[in-house]
Amino acid sequence: MKMMINTDDQTIYHVAVPSPLRRLFDYLAPEQLQNSSCNKILQPGTRVLVPFGKRVLVGIIVGNSKTSSIPISRLKFIKSIIDTEPLIPRHLFDLYIWAAKYYHNPIGDSLFQSIPNLLRKGKELPSLETQCWMLTKKGIEVPLTDLSRSPKKREFISWLKEKKAITIEEVKQKKISPSTLKKLTEEKLILLSSLPENSYHFKDKISLAEKPQNLYPEQQKALKNISMEGFNAYLLFGETGSGKTEVYLQAIEKIVFSGKQALVLIPEISLTPQTLSRFENRFDTPIVVLHSKLTDKERAFAWNMARMGKASIVIGTRSAIFTPLKFLGLIIIDEEHDSSYKQQEGYRYSARDLGVIRAQKESIPIILGSATPSMESLNNCIENRYTKLILSCRPEKSSRPNWLPVNIRKSQLINGFSQELIESIKKVLFEGDQVLIFLNRRGYSPTLSCYDCGWISNCPNCEVRLTVHKKPSRLLCHHCEYTIKVPSICPSCNSSQLEFIGQGTERIEDTLKVLFPKIPILRVDRDTTRNKTAIKDVLSTIHSGESCILVGTQMLAKGHHFPNVTLVAILDADGGLFSPDFRAPEKMGQLITQVAGRSGRGEKQGSVIIQSNYCDHPFISSLIFQDYQNFIDEISKERELSSLPPFSHMALVRAESTSNEDALNFLKYCRKQAENILPPNKIITYLGPLPALMEKRNGRFRYIFSIYCKDRKQIQKLLEKLCQRVDTAPLAKRIRWSIDVDPQDIS
Ligand code: ADP
Ligand code: ZN
Ligand code: ZN
Repeated sequence: MKMMINTDDQTIYHVAVPSPLRRLFDYLAPEQLQNSSCNKILQPGTRVLVPFGKRVLVGIIVGNSKTSSIPISRLKFIKSIIDTEPLIPRHLFDLYIWAAKYYHNPIGDSLFQSIPNLLRKGKELPSLETQCWMLTKKGIEVPLTDLSRSPKKREFISWLKEKKAITIEEVKQKKISPSTLKKLTEEKLILLSSLPENSYHFKDKISLAEKPQNLYPEQQKALKNISMEGFNAYLLFGETGSGKTEVYLQAIEKIVFSGKQALVLIPEISLTPQTLSRFENRFDTPIVVLHSKLTDKERAFAWNMARMGKASIVIGTRSAIFTPLKFLGLIIIDEEHDSSYKQQEGYRYSARDLGVIRAQKESIPIILGSATPSMESLNNCIENRYTKLILSCRPEKSSRPNWLPVNIRKSQLINGFSQELIESIKKVLFEGDQVLIFLNRRGYSPTLSCYDCGWISNCPNCEVRLTVHKKPSRLLCHHCEYTIKVPSICPSCNSSQLEFIGQGTERIEDTLKVLFPKIPILRVDRDTTRNKTAIKDVLSTIHSGESCILVGTQMLAKGHHFPNVTLVAILDADGGLFSPDFRAPEKMGQLITQVAGRSGRGEKQGSVIIQSNYCDHPFISSLIFQDYQNFIDEISKERELSSLPPFSHMALVRAESTSNEDALNFLKYCRKQAENILPPNKIITYLGPLPALMEKRNGRFRYIFSIYCKDRKQIQKLLEKLCQRVDTAPLAKRIRWSIDVDPQDIS
C-alpha cells in the first residue's frame, strides 16, 4: 500500500466504524478542532460522527498519524465529536483492540460489540444522579392525621417520612399513581430533587449485611493462598457444594473493604437467581448486574456505575468482561468450564480467556472456579500458569453421593427406565424425598419413523431429524425452527404404523405420570421455562421440600442447590462417547458430574444412578469412581496423542453456502493459501476442508478447515496473513465464512 505523506502536517485519524470490513477509515480532524487554536488530539476510544458513503455513522477513534494511504485531498472531515473524553480507559481500550486482533474479527465490529448498545447508537451515558422524591418543609411538618381522607397520599407521605428519599424507580415498582404524586406536589408537600452522584459512593458505606461463614480448613487455605496483590490466576477446583462461592464471597470482601471493585462472571443469570441473591444478601454495598434482559438504558446505567467506581461488585454474563471498572481489584469466573463464555457467532471471543488477559494487563488476581474445570485450565495448572486450589469435601452435614451404574445393554427398558431405576425412585419417594431425572434432549421423541418403509422425519433444510413435540403437537427442527404438523400416516407409503423412536423430556414426563400418578412431575427445559415465572414456580415447589420428580435437560445442571433431592438419575450417559467432536467426552463428563452433584446436598445421603451401555468404558468408569481429575487424565491421553487442544492451538475456518461447491472451493483455496504462507511442518498441521458435523443447516452446506499449531505466535501470524489474502478472494463475497480461534464447538 502506498503511504501518502501529509505535507500540511495535519493529524489524520484512524477510525473504526461498525462494518464487517477488516480495516480502519481515515478522516481529518473536525473543523471545530482545526479552527481553534488549541492543539487538542482526540484520544483512542473517543466516539465521533463520521460521514460514510451517504450515511453518517458513529465511529471510534483508534489512533492517529500524519500519513494516510489515501490522498489527503480526498479525505473527509470528522463531522463532530461525541465524547469530550474517551469513555473507556486506555488500558481497557487496548484490550478491546488486542481481542479483535487475536480473534481475527473485524475491528469495528469488535469495538462496537464491546460497548453498551446505547453508546453504539451515539447516545450519552445516563447520568448517575438519581431523581428522588423528598418531603418539603410543609411535608415534614404535616401530621399524618391530616391526610386521613386520602389513604394513598397518607401512605406515600408516611413512607417518605421513614425513608427520606425515594427514587423514581422505587415509585414505579410500588405502583404509586402519577395523580397522587401530582396532587401532593400541588399541595407543596413533596418535591422532586436530585441526589448528587457521590452521595452513594460505595467506599463510604461498606458493610456486610450478613456474617460470613467460618471457613473450614481447606477453604481457609485456599483463601490464604489467593494473593490480592498483582497478577495471579487461580483455579478453584471443588465439587458442587464444596464451598467455592463462600471463598469467592470472602475474597471479594477483602477487595471491597480495601476500596476496590470485583467483577464476577457467571454463565447465565436467569437460571441461577440463587447465586445472585447470595451476593446481594452478603454485601450491603451497591452491586450492579449486567445481563441480557436489561433495557439499553438500564445496561448503560449499570455500566456507568461500574466505570465511575460506584458499584462495588459487578455481576454479569459473557459480555460483562468488557465493562470498565475504575478500581478493579479482582475478577472471578464462576463455572469456568461453561461453554456460554465463548461467543459462538460473529465475534467469537472467550470471556474466560479474555478475563485472564485482562487480569494480567491490570495486574490483579483472577479466580476461575468449577467443580468440573476445563481440560485447558487443568493443563494450565500443570504448566504452572495457574495455581490450583482444591476443595475436596462438602462442609459439615452433606456427604458425597453414592454412585450406582446400571448396565442397560441387557435390561428391558420401559420408555428409557430400567427396573433398577424404577425401584430406586419408589424408595426415595416413599421416604418423602425428591428425585431428579436428567436427559439432555427436549421434546417428546427425537425421531418419528415408519415401521413399514423405514421413512424418517428429516428436516428438509438441515442434516438432522425433526423432533416430535406434543405440547403443542408438531414436528420441529431444533436448528432452523422448521415446523410441520405430526403426520398421522407415513408421507412416503401411507402406512399408519408410525413409531416414536427414543426419548425426550416430554415423553419421560408422560411415562413418569403413568408410573407415579400421585406425585408432582416438574419438567425443566427450554420449552417449559420460556417465561421467567415458570422457572420461579418450579424452583419454589422444589424448595418447599414436597416430594416430587424433576425431569430436565442441562438447565438443571447449572448452579442450583436442591437440598431435598436425594436421587439423581442419568438416563443415558453414552451421548458423548463416540462423537466425532473431540470435546464431546469432556462435555459429557462435566454434565454428568454437575448433574450428579445436585444429589444429597442437604443433610441426607444422596445417590446417583447412571444408565449406560458401556459401564466398563474407561471414561464412564472413571466418572463412576467420582474422580473428575482421573477422568480428565484419562481423556487427555487421547487428546495428547492426537495433538489436539490443549496440546496444540487450534483455529477453524468455517464456510457455508447454498451451493455445495462454493463453500468447499473457498476452503480449498484457504488451505492452499495457508500452505503457501506456512508449509505444514512439525509444528503446524492442516486438516480438511471436511464437511461440518452437521453438513447442512438452514439450507446451507457447511465445511470446516482446521489448523493445529504448537506455537501460538505462529498460528496468529498465519491467520493474520491468511485473512488478508482470502478477504479479497472473489468466492469470499458469495459465501458466509468465519474464523474461530480456540473453538469450543466444532459442530
Ligand atoms: P459451591 O459454590 O462450591 O457449590 P457453596 O459455597 O454454595 O458451594 O456451598 C455449599 C453450601 O455449603 C452452601 O449452603 C453454603 O452456605 C454452605 N457452606 C459453604 N461454606 C461453608 C462453611 N465454611 N461452613 C458452613 N457452611 C458452608
Ligand atoms: Zn412408510
Ligand atoms: Zn432444520
